[in-house]
Amino acid sequence: MPDPKFSKPWHGIPREEIHWNPTVLDDVCIGCGTCVTGCSRLVYRFDFDRKKPVVVDPLNCMVGCTTCANTCPANAIVFPPIDSVLALQGRAEVRHAVEDDLLARREVLASAFTVPHPDRIVTLSIAEKDLMTADVLRVVLAPVEAGECFCEFVPGQYIELWQPGSNHLSRSYSIANASHGDGRIELHLRQVVGGRFTGWAFDEMRVGDKLRARGPLGAFTLRSAPDVPLLFVAGGTGFAPIHALVEQQARFQPARDMVRRLQPPPRG
Ligand code: SF4
Ligand code: SF4
Repeated sequence: MPDPKFSKPWHGIPREEIHWNPTVLDDVCIGCGTCVTGCSRLVYRFDFDRKKPVVVDPLNCMVGCTTCANTCPANAIVFPPIDSVLALQGRAEVRHAVEDDLLARREVLASAFTVPHPDRIVTLSIAEKDLMTADVLRVVLAPVEAGECFCEFVPGQYIELWQPGSNHLSRSYSIANASHGDGRIELHLRQVVGGRFTGWAFDEMRVGDKLRARGPLGAFTLRSAPDVPLLFVAGGTGFAPIHALVEQQARFQPARDMVRRLQPPPRG
């Protein structure tokens, strides 16, 4: 029988709907028993006559875990492709369930250590908001107070934003412009079906609204390569950091030929 402690829903999805458990290749297995005793969830039992492990409670298996396969000396254990789990993590309800769980168990899960953050938290206001495509929003954030801004940042970096009036966790977005010294930051937000932040941004966010922002974060930079052709490949809002890098390059090397091709983000 599956143990309810282990076979409970995975981030809101019933465990029965997720195909994730080991399969033992009997012909390859040498019967050492490591997988049976090494799994703390009692997925396996041991057939002492055949000297083979048997997967008796597959729903006890922790989604995404491959410990038994990693420690099998004969490489006799296989799992479904991890892509099937990663596809679930792309669903808004899964991300929301993770966020809700973090917030509900904050006292238990919060780190007791104070990590000094080199980045800053400032307040920015919505200066511009318009649609680039039906599901991509262009937003320009401006500092509320002069000097209280991310006045200098490097293209390729990102910032975190908190939705005003909610206790949701912050969301991260790539900066889509080069720094102009005035602290204005352009973002391209792709609407996520069921997404909490983008749902608010598309429907309720107004010019003049104020948001807390942290950053700038990340260290992805483009080193100077004057004689080497560069090919940027990105789609949809993934183009945002490249947009910023190209803008910076254009400023420092204005004579250089540059072609920009924007394609709408893939659907589905
Ligand atoms: S760890 Fe590998 S070789 Fe050992 S019993 Fe399990 S499947 Fe067989
Ligand atoms: S993957 Fe992890 S939880 Fe699943 S059977 Fe192996 S050791 Fe147990």
